[in-house]
Amino acid sequence: MAKSTEAAHLETTFFGDVCEFFDHAAQFTSHHEGLLDQIRSCNSVYRFRFPIRRGNGFEVIDAWRVEHSHHKSPTKGGIRYSEMVNEDEVMALASLMTYKCAIVNVPFGGAKGGIKINPKNYTVAELENITRRYTVELIKKNFIGPGIDVPAPDYGSGEREMSWIADTYQTMNPGQLDALGCVTGKPLALHGIAGRREATGRGVAISIRECVDITEDMTRVGLTAGLSGKRVIVQGLGNVGYYTCKYLAEFGATIVGMCEYEGAIYNAKGLDLDDVFNHRKATGSILGFAGAAKEFKNSSEGLEQECDILVPAALENQITENNIGNIKAKIIAEAANGPTTPAAAAAFIERGSIIIPDMYCNAGGVTVSYFEWLKNLSHVAFGRMDKRYEETANFNLVNMVESATGVTLDAAQRKMIIKGATELELVNSGLEDTMIRSYHEIREIKMNNPKIDSLRTAAFVSSIDKIAVSYMNLGIWP
Ligand code: GLU
Repeated sequence: MAKSTEAAHLETTFFGDVCEFFDHAAQFTSHHEGLLDQIRSCNSVYRFRFPIRRGNGFEVIDAWRVEHSHHKSPTKGGIRYSEMVNEDEVMALASLMTYKCAIVNVPFGGAKGGIKINPKNYTVAELENITRRYTVELIKKNFIGPGIDVPAPDYGSGEREMSWIADTYQTMNPGQLDALGCVTGKPLALHGIAGRREATGRGVAISIRECVDITEDMTRVGLTAGLSGKRVIVQGLGNVGYYTCKYLAEFGATIVGMCEYEGAIYNAKGLDLDDVFNHRKATGSILGFAGAAKEFKNSSEGLEQECDILVPAALENQITENNIGNIKAKIIAEAANGPTTPAAAAAFIERGSIIIPDMYCNAGGVTVSYFEWLKNLSHVAFGRMDKRYEETANFNLVNMVESATGVTLDAAQRKMIIKGATELELVNSGLEDTMIRSYHEIREIKMNNPKIDSLRTAAFVSSIDKIAVSYMNLGIWP
């Protein structure tokens, strides 16, 4: 199939890469070219600049917010704080948000924001000033609001920034009942939700567990089924990488390698996450960690060590034509957005290996953001209405079963059965169900069409079809 004009012009860019993946998958759908063009394009690209006072002078900050698709409202996606941010990157990330939300049935369009700064070079007061001013600029152009566009954390931002955004929005919209739904990833004490911080990493770990649990697929790549003992290398120890390691280890995998920008460490017997973390906190580097058997000053060498599963959890464009030949993993789980270029992905798939694609693999974050948004709109924490009711019902049931059967449960067994679900348990259950269902939905699409070469293509087919239905329901396309 011919490439879209947009993709042809953007061949070497990140957005171009996403369009290339899209166009490859579009051939397996039967939608009108005009509709495909509408789905693929970025609807609104807002680029702005604002000055801040710094030291004795001023600095002009470059910023963006891109709303890729309005087939559903609000649009949704994080704000990246990074010196490397540019318009193409924000467009690519916004478009990935659209496909991601569609795959996991989160009813949002895709968006993304970018602020071109290295947060490490700014004081907390300066960061607050920049974040609040960024929010005001979004408010001025109607680019933020609980029913319009809802930001969240991304690379370089977190709960603190989200609470500044919420506070600024609320201050500028007095009396707006749903104002706190204008942003997600807020601290728990400021109307956030339990489990959001861990959500992306937990989702990545669940997606990997789901993939490796299928014996038939593992046999095909020369691995045994199950996570137990699987050797994993993780690139990036930020929020996503950290929690991915934590849950993978809990599920039985062995973290054998960790890569950060200053270098990489490896030990075939396993690395203890918290020990590495504490070492890095104390020394500023993962290098020099006593539990490592090997270390590499060149971080990318870390990706090329012996392992079963490689988890890029840092930035885009990490696995390219230049290093794919040296990657030993049989599975790449894309915890980051866009870590594998189309050429590298094609070469890896050609070998018969598996890529768990970003747009599904890291969708746990936005899934729990959706739960947070629902909590903010309903103004009640999950479980508040029914926890005690459930406990009373379970209590009565246990008593009846005990007296009818003569069996007496011990205190721990009684507690386990009677206990009603907390917000965290409900969030984790919703997240797990979403990740498991979506994996099988994508895999089914792939299995049902032998021409569909990868889970990524299947994921794109799934989301293109869902977005197309939304446009048709809006009466825009026949
Ligand atoms: N920045 C995250 C992502 O890329 C989270 C987005 C959100 O929660 O809206 O998926």
